[in-house]
Amino acid sequence: MKFGGGLMDNAPGIKKVTELIEEFSCEPLVVVVSALGKTTNALEKLYQQYLNGEPLEDGFFEIKKKHLSIVTQLFSKVDDDLRNCLDQLFEQLWSSLNAKYSNKYEAYDCIVSFGEELSSCIIYHYLKSINIKTNLVNAKCIIKTDSNFTNASVNWSYTSKTIDSRIVPLLESGKVVITQGFVGADKFGKSTTIGREGSDFTAAIIGNLLNADEVTIWKNVPGLMNADPARFSNAVKIDKLSYHEAIELAYYGASVIHPKTIQPLKQKNIPLFVRPYYNTDLLPTSITNDSSNDSVTSSIIIKDNQVLLSISTKDLSFIAEENLKQIFDVFSRNKTHINMMQNSAVSFSVCFKEDSVKLPGLLSDLQSEFAIKYNKGLILITVRNYTDDIIASLVGNKKVYLEQKSRVTVQLLIRES
Ligand code: ASP
Ligand code: MG
Repeated sequence: MKFGGGLMDNAPGIKKVTELIEEFSCEPLVVVVSALGKTTNALEKLYQQYLNGEPLEDGFFEIKKKHLSIVTQLFSKVDDDLRNCLDQLFEQLWSSLNAKYSNKYEAYDCIVSFGEELSSCIIYHYLKSINIKTNLVNAKCIIKTDSNFTNASVNWSYTSKTIDSRIVPLLESGKVVITQGFVGADKFGKSTTIGREGSDFTAAIIGNLLNADEVTIWKNVPGLMNADPARFSNAVKIDKLSYHEAIELAYYGASVIHPKTIQPLKQKNIPLFVRPYYNTDLLPTSITNDSSNDSVTSSIIIKDNQVLLSISTKDLSFIAEENLKQIFDVFSRNKTHINMMQNSAVSFSVCFKEDSVKLPGLLSDLQSEFAIKYNKGLILITVRNYTDDIIASLVGNKKVYLEQKSRVTVQLLIRES
C-alpha cells in the first residue's frame, strides 16, 4: 500500500492512515509512505536557497516546527526512541544543508529525501504506540539505484536481493513493513530519488519483487478520475481500465499515478487499486489487463507551467537530424523531459515544464548553438477519447500555440486566460 503526503498533512490524517494499516494488517503488508503534506516542496525551496547561498534557518525551522507540531498532536507522550529518531534526522538534514557535494543534483537528492525519512519515522512510531507489530526498513537499504540523481534508475537484481533478505523475513514473522517512497541509494550509499511523486513507483517496485497479490494507492479522491476534480466539477471516477491505458494517462500527466508505476505491475499481472482513504466501502478503480472499458470515458489531463521553446539554427538553415541530436542531448544533459514537440523547416518547437533549477542551464546550453524564442506560463491539455465538443469547450477563444492529434488523443498548448 502507498499513502501520499496529501492524506497525511495533519495528525487526524495520519491517524486515519494508521487505522487503514491496522484494518489490513492481518495479511502480509508493506506500507510505502511519502513525505507529509507539502514537505517535499518545502525541501525543494530550501535546496534552492542552499544553491543560492541564502540563509536557511527559517526554512529549516519551518519544516521542523510543522513536524513537531504534528508529533505533539499525535502522541500524548513522546518516548525517547521517537525523540532520538527525530533529533537525529533534523541534525542530519541540517548537516546535509551545509555539506559539499560533487554536483547539485546529488545535493538535491540528499536534502529532499528527508521528507520521507521524517514521515516514516513518525508513522512507524505511531503504529508501535497503538500496538501494531511493525518494522521500519530504510528504503536506502532496499531500493538500489544508479547514480543518476533526481531521476535514478532502479537496479532490479540488487533490489530483488535486498527485498528478499530484508523484507520477506519480516513479513513472514507477521510484521507490517514500513518504508519510504521516492528514495533509494546508489552503490556508494548516497541518497538518490526516483523522480517527483515517485512513491507510487516505489510501491510498484516492491509489489513486483514480492509478487504481491495487489498494490493499492490510497487517495483523497474516489479513485482514478477522468479529470482533476479541483478543475472540473463534472469529473467522474473511472471504474476500471487496462494497464496500457493507465500508462498512457500517466504519461500524459494524470497526476494520480506516477508514470513508471504501471509497467512493473503489468509485468507480473498484479492488479493496481486506486482507493479513497476516507471510505473503504467504495469500489476502487482497478487497473488490470482488462481493456474492455478503455474507450468508454474521455479523460482530460492538464499540465500547468509549460514553456514553449522554438529552436532554430543561427543562420536559419534547415533543422536536420544532426541538429536534433544536439538538441536532445542538451535536454537530456539538463534532465528536462519533453512533453510535446513539433518541427518545421527552420524551427523545432518543444514544450516542457518550467523548472527554475533546470531552465537556466538548458537555455544557456541551447543559446550557444541555436537561436531560441520562448513563451512561459502555458498549459498543456491532453484529451484521451476526445470529441469535438470537448475540444471546443476547453479551447473557447483562447490562442492555441501548438496542437497535435491522433486517433485517440489530442494535445493542445494554450495560454490560460
Ligand atoms: N514526496 C515526494 C514528492 O512529493 C514523492 C511522492 O510524493 O511520491 O514528490
Ligand atoms: Mg508527495
